[in-house]
Amino acid sequence: MIHLIDKLFINNSLTKEELIFLLDNLTESDRDYLISKAYETRLRTYGNTVFLRGLIEITNYCKRDCCYCGIRASNSSAQRYRLTEEEILQACINGFELGYRTFVLQGGEDAYFTDEKLIKIISSIKSKCPEAAVTLSLGEKSESSYKALYDAGADRYLLRHETATKSLYESIHPNMSFENRIECLKNIKKVGLQVGAGFLIGLPNQTNQDIVNDLIFLKELEPHMVGIGPFIPQKNTPLRDEKGGDSHTTITLLAIIRLLLPNVLLPATTALGTIDSSGREKAFKAGANVIMPNLSPFECRKKYALYDGKVFTDTESAEEKKKIETKIKEAGFEPVLSRGDNITWKRI
Ligand code: SAM
Repeated sequence: MIHLIDKLFINNSLTKEELIFLLDNLTESDRDYLISKAYETRLRTYGNTVFLRGLIEITNYCKRDCCYCGIRASNSSAQRYRLTEEEILQACINGFELGYRTFVLQGGEDAYFTDEKLIKIISSIKSKCPEAAVTLSLGEKSESSYKALYDAGADRYLLRHETATKSLYESIHPNMSFENRIECLKNIKKVGLQVGAGFLIGLPNQTNQDIVNDLIFLKELEPHMVGIGPFIPQKNTPLRDEKGGDSHTTITLLAIIRLLLPNVLLPATTALGTIDSSGREKAFKAGANVIMPNLSPFECRKKYALYDGKVFTDTESAEEKKKIETKIKEAGFEPVLSRGDNITWKRI
Protein backbone atom coordinates (compact mmCIF):
# COMPACT_ATOMS: atom_id res chain seq x y z
CA MET A 1 0.00 0.00 0.00
CA ILE A 2 2.82 2.43 0.85
CA HIS A 3 4.30 1.68 -2.57
CA LEU A 4 0.95 2.55 -4.18
CA ILE A 5 0.68 5.82 -2.24
CA ASP A 6 4.26 6.69 -3.24
CA LYS A 7 3.35 5.98 -6.85
CA LEU A 8 0.35 8.30 -6.57
CA PHE A 9 2.54 10.96 -4.94
CA ILE A 10 5.22 10.75 -7.65
CA ASN A 11 3.11 10.18 -10.79
CA ASN A 12 -0.13 11.92 -9.69
CA SER A 13 -1.98 9.04 -11.25
CA LEU A 14 -3.14 5.49 -10.57
CA THR A 15 -5.11 3.00 -12.65
CA LYS A 16 -8.75 2.21 -11.91
CA GLU A 17 -7.72 -1.12 -10.38
CA GLU A 18 -5.10 0.52 -8.18
CA LEU A 19 -7.57 3.14 -6.96
CA ILE A 20 -10.11 0.46 -6.07
CA PHE A 21 -7.42 -1.49 -4.23
CA LEU A 22 -6.45 1.68 -2.35
CA LEU A 23 -10.02 2.49 -1.29
CA ASP A 24 -10.87 -1.09 -0.35
CA ASN A 25 -7.75 -1.80 1.69
CA LEU A 26 -6.53 1.46 3.25
CA THR A 27 -5.67 0.98 6.94
CA GLU A 28 -5.53 3.86 9.43
CA SER A 29 -1.72 4.01 9.27
CA ASP A 30 -1.79 3.93 5.45
CA ARG A 31 -4.31 6.75 5.60
CA ASP A 32 -2.01 8.81 7.85
CA TYR A 33 0.76 8.31 5.29
CA LEU A 34 -1.58 9.27 2.41
CA ILE A 35 -2.56 12.46 4.24
CA SER A 36 1.10 13.32 4.93
CA LYS A 37 1.88 13.00 1.20
CA ALA A 38 -1.13 15.17 0.31
CA TYR A 39 0.10 17.75 2.82
CA GLU A 40 3.58 17.68 1.27
CA THR A 41 2.01 18.17 -2.17
CA ARG A 42 -0.10 21.19 -1.18
CA LEU A 43 3.00 22.77 0.42
CA ARG A 44 4.79 22.38 -2.91
CA THR A 45 1.97 23.89 -5.01
CA TYR A 46 0.19 26.50 -2.85
CA GLY A 47 2.33 26.57 0.31
CA ASN A 48 0.41 26.64 3.57
CA THR A 49 -2.14 29.18 2.33
CA VAL A 50 -5.92 28.85 2.62
CA PHE A 51 -7.88 31.13 0.28
CA LEU A 52 -11.03 32.78 1.61
CA ARG A 53 -13.86 33.32 -0.89
CA GLY A 54 -17.03 35.25 -0.07
CA LEU A 55 -20.11 33.13 -0.83
CA ILE A 56 -23.36 34.85 -1.76
CA GLU A 57 -26.44 32.65 -2.13
CA ILE A 58 -28.35 34.73 -4.66
CA THR A 59 -31.53 32.64 -5.13
CA ASN A 60 -33.13 29.47 -3.85
CA TYR A 61 -35.60 29.22 -6.73
CA CYS A 62 -34.70 26.13 -8.73
CA LYS A 63 -36.31 24.40 -11.67
CA ARG A 64 -34.41 21.16 -10.98
CA ASP A 65 -35.56 18.38 -8.70
CA CYS A 66 -32.34 16.78 -7.42
CA CYS A 67 -33.53 14.17 -4.90
CA TYR A 68 -31.01 15.17 -2.20
CA CYS A 69 -31.39 18.94 -2.32
CA GLY A 70 -33.48 21.08 0.03
CA ILE A 71 -34.13 23.74 -2.63
CA ARG A 72 -35.46 21.25 -5.23
CA ALA A 73 -38.49 22.51 -7.15
CA SER A 74 -40.86 20.00 -5.51
CA ASN A 75 -40.06 21.10 -1.98
CA SER A 76 -43.15 23.16 -1.27
CA SER A 77 -41.94 23.83 2.30
CA ALA A 78 -38.97 25.87 1.02
CA GLN A 79 -39.50 29.59 1.51
CA ARG A 80 -38.28 31.00 -1.78
CA TYR A 81 -36.23 34.19 -2.15
CA ARG A 82 -34.03 35.89 -4.68
CA LEU A 83 -31.68 38.78 -4.04
CA THR A 84 -32.01 41.95 -6.08
CA GLU A 85 -29.10 43.13 -8.20
CA GLU A 86 -28.49 45.88 -5.63
CA GLU A 87 -28.44 43.38 -2.75
CA ILE A 88 -25.93 41.18 -4.59
CA LEU A 89 -23.70 44.14 -5.36
CA GLN A 90 -23.95 45.43 -1.79
CA ALA A 91 -22.97 42.01 -0.39
CA CYS A 92 -19.88 42.09 -2.64
CA ILE A 93 -18.99 45.65 -1.69
CA ASN A 94 -19.27 44.75 2.01
CA GLY A 95 -17.02 41.75 1.40
CA PHE A 96 -14.57 43.83 -0.67
CA GLU A 97 -14.24 46.31 2.20
CA LEU A 98 -13.39 43.40 4.50
CA GLY A 99 -10.65 42.38 2.06
CA TYR A 100 -12.32 39.58 0.06
CA ARG A 101 -11.09 39.38 -3.53
CA THR A 102 -13.26 36.51 -4.76
CA PHE A 103 -17.04 36.39 -4.73
CA VAL A 104 -18.92 33.19 -5.41
CA LEU A 105 -22.47 33.80 -6.62
CA GLN A 106 -24.39 30.57 -6.08
CA GLY A 107 -28.02 29.64 -6.52
CA GLY A 108 -30.62 27.29 -7.86
CA GLU A 109 -31.36 27.21 -11.59
CA ASP A 110 -33.54 30.30 -11.64
CA ALA A 111 -34.71 31.59 -15.04
CA TYR A 112 -35.06 35.08 -13.54
CA PHE A 113 -31.29 35.47 -13.74
CA THR A 114 -30.96 35.71 -17.52
CA ASP A 115 -27.56 36.11 -19.17
CA GLU A 116 -28.38 39.78 -19.62
CA LYS A 117 -29.02 40.30 -15.88
CA LEU A 118 -25.94 38.29 -14.92
CA ILE A 119 -23.74 40.24 -17.33
CA LYS A 120 -24.95 43.46 -15.73
CA ILE A 121 -24.29 42.09 -12.24
CA ILE A 122 -20.78 40.87 -13.19
CA SER A 123 -19.93 44.26 -14.75
CA SER A 124 -21.11 46.15 -11.65
CA ILE A 125 -19.09 43.90 -9.35
CA LYS A 126 -16.03 44.34 -11.55
CA SER A 127 -16.36 48.12 -11.54
CA LYS A 128 -17.07 48.48 -7.79
CA CYS A 129 -14.65 45.76 -6.67
CA PRO A 130 -11.70 46.12 -9.04
CA GLU A 131 -9.44 43.07 -9.37
CA ALA A 132 -11.88 40.84 -7.54
CA ALA A 133 -12.57 37.46 -9.13
CA VAL A 134 -16.16 36.45 -9.81
CA THR A 135 -17.14 32.80 -9.55
CA LEU A 136 -20.58 31.65 -10.64
CA SER A 137 -22.38 28.49 -9.57
CA LEU A 138 -25.80 28.67 -11.16
CA GLY A 139 -26.22 25.33 -12.88
CA GLU A 140 -26.40 24.11 -16.45
CA LYS A 141 -26.28 26.60 -19.33
CA SER A 142 -25.48 26.58 -23.02
CA GLU A 143 -21.91 27.00 -24.25
CA SER A 144 -22.83 30.44 -25.62
CA SER A 145 -24.12 31.53 -22.20
CA TYR A 146 -20.93 30.39 -20.46
CA LYS A 147 -18.94 32.28 -23.11
CA ALA A 148 -21.01 35.45 -22.66
CA LEU A 149 -20.50 35.28 -18.89
CA TYR A 150 -16.75 34.78 -19.34
CA ASP A 151 -16.60 37.70 -21.79
CA ALA A 152 -18.46 39.84 -19.24
CA GLY A 153 -15.66 39.18 -16.75
CA ALA A 154 -16.67 36.03 -14.85
CA ASP A 155 -13.53 34.10 -13.94
CA ARG A 156 -14.71 30.74 -12.63
CA TYR A 157 -17.71 28.45 -12.74
CA LEU A 158 -18.57 25.70 -10.27
CA LEU A 159 -20.74 22.85 -11.44
CA ARG A 160 -20.30 19.63 -9.52
CA HIS A 161 -20.81 16.55 -11.65
CA GLU A 162 -22.32 15.07 -8.44
CA THR A 163 -21.46 11.48 -9.47
CA ALA A 164 -19.68 10.14 -12.54
CA THR A 165 -21.74 6.92 -12.60
CA LYS A 166 -24.52 7.49 -15.13
CA SER A 167 -27.03 5.09 -13.52
CA LEU A 168 -26.49 6.58 -10.04
CA TYR A 169 -26.70 10.10 -11.48
CA GLU A 170 -29.99 9.35 -13.21
CA SER A 171 -31.47 7.70 -10.10
CA ILE A 172 -31.20 10.93 -8.10
CA HIS A 173 -31.66 13.57 -10.84
CA PRO A 174 -35.13 13.15 -12.36
CA ASN A 175 -35.42 14.49 -15.91
CA MET A 176 -31.78 15.50 -16.06
CA SER A 177 -29.18 14.27 -18.51
CA PHE A 178 -25.86 12.95 -17.25
CA GLU A 179 -24.36 13.57 -20.69
CA ASN A 180 -25.45 17.21 -20.60
CA ARG A 181 -23.90 17.74 -17.16
CA ILE A 182 -20.57 16.45 -18.45
CA GLU A 183 -20.90 18.47 -21.67
CA CYS A 184 -21.49 21.62 -19.60
CA LEU A 185 -18.29 21.02 -17.65
CA LYS A 186 -16.31 20.61 -20.87
CA ASN A 187 -17.88 23.77 -22.31
CA ILE A 188 -17.11 25.80 -19.19
CA LYS A 189 -13.47 24.84 -19.56
CA LYS A 190 -13.48 25.36 -23.33
CA VAL A 191 -14.70 28.98 -23.15
CA GLY A 192 -11.81 29.87 -20.81
CA LEU A 193 -13.42 29.87 -17.37
CA GLN A 194 -11.72 28.09 -14.49
CA VAL A 195 -13.93 25.08 -14.04
CA GLY A 196 -14.93 23.40 -10.80
CA ALA A 197 -16.33 19.88 -10.79
CA GLY A 198 -16.96 17.65 -7.79
CA PHE A 199 -19.09 14.96 -6.24
CA LEU A 200 -21.19 13.94 -3.26
CA ILE A 201 -19.95 11.33 -0.82
CA GLY A 202 -22.28 8.86 0.87
CA LEU A 203 -25.09 8.86 -1.68
CA PRO A 204 -27.51 5.91 -1.34
CA ASN A 205 -26.05 2.79 -2.99
CA GLN A 206 -22.77 4.55 -3.83
CA THR A 207 -19.87 2.08 -3.90
CA ASN A 208 -16.09 2.46 -4.00
CA GLN A 209 -16.38 1.64 -7.70
CA ASP A 210 -18.58 4.75 -8.14
CA ILE A 211 -16.04 6.85 -6.23
CA VAL A 212 -13.28 5.55 -8.48
CA ASN A 213 -15.39 6.63 -11.49
CA ASP A 214 -15.43 10.11 -9.93
CA LEU A 215 -11.67 10.12 -9.40
CA ILE A 216 -10.93 8.92 -12.95
CA PHE A 217 -13.38 11.46 -14.36
CA LEU A 218 -11.68 14.27 -12.42
CA LYS A 219 -8.24 13.17 -13.55
CA GLU A 220 -9.41 13.22 -17.19
CA LEU A 221 -11.24 16.56 -16.98
CA GLU A 222 -8.42 18.21 -15.03
CA PRO A 223 -10.60 20.91 -13.51
CA HIS A 224 -9.10 23.98 -11.82
CA MET A 225 -11.26 23.41 -8.73
CA VAL A 226 -12.85 20.37 -7.14
CA GLY A 227 -15.66 20.63 -4.59
CA ILE A 228 -16.44 17.42 -2.76
CA GLY A 229 -18.54 17.03 0.34
CA PRO A 230 -20.67 14.60 2.28
CA PHE A 231 -24.27 14.18 1.20
CA ILE A 232 -26.37 15.24 4.21
CA PRO A 233 -30.06 14.27 4.21
CA GLN A 234 -32.63 17.08 4.18
CA LYS A 235 -35.99 16.49 5.84
CA ASN A 236 -38.18 17.62 2.94
CA THR A 237 -36.53 15.53 0.24
CA PRO A 238 -37.01 11.93 -0.95
CA LEU A 239 -33.61 11.00 0.54
CA ARG A 240 -34.56 12.25 4.03
CA ASP A 241 -34.09 8.82 5.69
CA GLU A 242 -30.76 7.95 4.11
CA LYS A 243 -27.55 7.79 6.10
CA GLY A 244 -25.39 10.40 4.34
CA GLY A 245 -21.61 10.71 3.99
CA ASP A 246 -18.98 10.78 6.75
CA SER A 247 -16.06 13.03 7.55
CA HIS A 248 -13.43 10.27 7.58
CA THR A 249 -14.15 9.22 3.97
CA THR A 250 -14.43 12.84 2.80
CA ILE A 251 -11.00 13.68 4.19
CA THR A 252 -9.42 10.54 2.71
CA LEU A 253 -10.83 11.54 -0.69
CA LEU A 254 -9.58 15.12 -0.35
CA ALA A 255 -6.08 13.70 0.14
CA ILE A 256 -6.40 11.43 -2.90
CA ILE A 257 -7.65 14.33 -5.05
CA ARG A 258 -4.77 16.55 -3.92
CA LEU A 259 -2.38 13.82 -5.07
CA LEU A 260 -4.19 13.21 -8.37
CA LEU A 261 -4.43 16.94 -9.17
CA PRO A 262 -1.59 18.71 -7.34
CA ASN A 263 -2.52 22.19 -8.66
CA VAL A 264 -6.22 22.03 -7.92
CA LEU A 265 -8.09 24.49 -5.70
CA LEU A 266 -9.81 22.30 -3.15
CA PRO A 267 -12.38 23.68 -0.72
CA ALA A 268 -12.99 22.43 2.79
CA THR A 269 -16.77 22.60 2.39
CA THR A 270 -19.48 23.88 4.71
CA ALA A 271 -21.13 20.44 4.51
CA LEU A 272 -17.96 18.87 5.94
CA GLY A 273 -17.89 21.49 8.71
CA THR A 274 -21.55 20.69 9.40
CA ILE A 275 -21.04 16.97 10.10
CA ASP A 276 -17.69 17.41 11.86
CA SER A 277 -16.93 20.59 13.80
CA SER A 278 -13.18 20.17 13.22
CA GLY A 279 -13.63 18.65 9.75
CA ARG A 280 -12.40 21.68 7.86
CA GLU A 281 -9.17 21.96 9.85
CA LYS A 282 -8.53 18.24 9.23
CA ALA A 283 -9.27 18.90 5.55
CA PHE A 284 -6.55 21.58 5.33
CA LYS A 285 -4.03 19.03 6.62
CA ALA A 286 -5.21 16.61 3.93
CA GLY A 287 -4.68 19.10 1.09
CA ALA A 288 -7.74 21.39 1.07
CA ASN A 289 -6.82 25.03 0.47
CA VAL A 290 -10.05 27.02 0.09
CA ILE A 291 -12.86 28.03 2.44
CA MET A 292 -16.00 29.98 1.55
CA PRO A 293 -17.42 32.09 4.37
CA ASN A 294 -21.04 33.11 3.85
CA LEU A 295 -21.59 36.78 2.93
CA SER A 296 -25.30 36.43 2.09
CA PRO A 297 -27.76 38.75 3.85
CA PHE A 298 -28.82 37.12 7.16
CA GLU A 299 -32.54 36.92 6.26
CA CYS A 300 -31.92 34.52 3.40
CA ARG A 301 -29.30 32.20 4.92
CA LYS A 302 -31.89 30.00 6.70
CA LYS A 303 -33.82 29.68 3.46
CA TYR A 304 -30.84 28.32 1.52
CA ALA A 305 -31.28 25.04 3.39
CA LEU A 306 -29.69 22.48 1.09
CA TYR A 307 -29.39 19.96 3.94
CA ASP A 308 -30.35 19.64 7.61
CA GLY A 309 -28.06 21.09 10.27
CA LYS A 310 -26.46 23.73 8.02
CA VAL A 311 -25.08 26.33 10.36
CA PHE A 312 -26.95 29.60 9.90
CA THR A 313 -24.55 31.94 11.54
CA ASP A 314 -25.87 35.39 12.23
CA THR A 315 -22.43 36.52 13.30
CA GLU A 316 -21.54 39.76 11.59
CA SER A 317 -19.27 39.13 8.56
CA ALA A 318 -16.20 40.94 9.97
CA GLU A 319 -16.35 38.93 13.18
CA GLU A 320 -17.03 35.69 11.31
CA LYS A 321 -14.01 36.33 9.09
CA LYS A 322 -11.80 36.87 12.15
CA LYS A 323 -13.05 33.63 13.71
CA ILE A 324 -12.34 31.67 10.54
CA GLU A 325 -8.90 33.24 10.17
CA THR A 326 -8.07 32.34 13.76
CA LYS A 327 -9.13 28.72 13.21
CA ILE A 328 -7.02 28.52 10.05
CA LYS A 329 -3.99 29.91 11.89
CA GLU A 330 -4.51 27.59 14.85
CA ALA A 331 -4.50 24.66 12.42
CA GLY A 332 -1.07 25.87 11.18
CA PHE A 333 -2.11 27.55 7.93
CA GLU A 334 -2.13 31.09 6.57
CA PRO A 335 -5.47 32.68 5.64
CA VAL A 336 -5.21 34.62 2.37
CA LEU A 337 -7.74 36.98 0.82
CA SER A 338 -6.17 37.45 -2.64
CA ARG A 339 -8.01 36.25 -5.78
CA GLY A 340 -6.31 32.88 -5.49
CA ASP A 341 -6.55 31.74 -9.09
CA ASN A 342 -5.46 28.27 -10.06
CA ILE A 343 -1.71 28.58 -10.68
CA THR A 344 -2.05 27.18 -14.21
CA TRP A 345 -4.81 29.58 -15.36
CA LYS A 346 -4.61 32.83 -17.32
CA ARG A 347 -7.44 34.80 -18.95
CA ILE A 348 -7.15 34.30 -22.71
N1 SAM B 1 -27.65 24.93 -9.00
C1 SAM B 1 -26.24 24.90 -9.00
C2 SAM B 1 -25.70 23.55 -9.43
O1 SAM B 1 -26.49 22.68 -9.76
O2 SAM B 1 -24.50 23.39 -9.52
C3 SAM B 1 -25.60 25.33 -7.70
C4 SAM B 1 -26.42 25.21 -6.46
S1 SAM B 1 -26.44 23.59 -5.80
C5 SAM B 1 -27.58 23.79 -4.48
C6 SAM B 1 -24.84 23.49 -5.03
C7 SAM B 1 -24.40 22.14 -4.54
O3 SAM B 1 -25.07 21.81 -3.32
C8 SAM B 1 -24.68 20.96 -5.42
O4 SAM B 1 -23.69 20.82 -6.38
C9 SAM B 1 -24.76 19.79 -4.43
O5 SAM B 1 -23.63 18.94 -4.53
C10 SAM B 1 -24.83 20.46 -3.07
N2 SAM B 1 -25.93 19.91 -2.26
C11 SAM B 1 -27.24 19.98 -2.52
N3 SAM B 1 -27.94 19.27 -1.61
C12 SAM B 1 -27.04 18.72 -0.77
C13 SAM B 1 -27.13 17.86 0.37
N4 SAM B 1 -28.30 17.40 0.78
N5 SAM B 1 -26.00 17.50 1.00
C14 SAM B 1 -24.80 17.98 0.57
N6 SAM B 1 -24.65 18.78 -0.48
C15 SAM B 1 -25.76 19.14 -1.16
